Amino acid sequence: MCGIVGYIGNNKAKEILINGLKCLEYRGYDSAGIATIENNKITVMKEKGRVSNLESLDGIDKLSGTVGIAHTRWATHGKPSKENAHPHKVGNITLVHNGIIDNFMELKSTLMSEGYTFKSDTDTEVAAAYIDSLYKENNDMIKSLSICVNKFLGSYAFGIINELETDVLYALRKDSPLIIGVGENENFIASDVPSILKYTNKYIDIENDEIVKITKDEVTVYDKNCNII
Ligand code: GLU
Repeated sequence: MCGIVGYIGNNKAKEILINGLKCLEYRGYDSAGIATIENNKITVMKEKGRVSNLESLDGIDKLSGTVGIAHTRWATHGKPSKENAHPHKVGNITLVHNGIIDNFMELKSTLMSEGYTFKSDTDTEVAAAYIDSLYKENNDMIKSLSICVNKFLGSYAFGIINELETDVLYALRKDSPLIIGVGENENFIASDVPSILKYTNKYIDIENDEIVKITKDEVTVYDKNCNII
């Protein structure tokens, strides 16, 4: 079991995300990573080993963005390494994932025939490429993620950001834990409540197959047919 934290608001995401990851360390993990958005560009930093290794990377203090996602990984596909650590960035899409996409090999060969190449051995990077390819066609994240809910077999919790929609954080889950923390002009995603309790004690459970669009002021939950719940 690994961990996910995400933040969108007016404060610097990096500190909140690293604090959140520290609260999730008890779940066990082999690597850690973070992605934040600065000047409409996503920066990914990740490292094998402890959250403290991530924290001591050169340049991490320059992450000043107020939107971001972070992850502690428990390797299932590909050895523990920097390349296999999350977040994974493919095209416009950057994401963190908890769980296993059982049919990733089938998706990977289709995506490779479309020209996608892969830097890691993970099922997660395939999910990022799949969402990127869908979004390129339809320019609609909710529609793209609803296709994923219908297509992905296995279990997952995802936190997702898109370089073309820099004021939104997306989440979805099936059979893997993820909650939305609701604050004042800021919102969170997390694998468990304690990792965001320092910031808010209000939270929303996401049910299986639900897709969530989160801005700093609003949380909108969709079913797998793109209807608002
Ligand atoms: N299956 C993914 C991987 O191996 C996610 C593992 C996890 O839940 O940390 O990278």
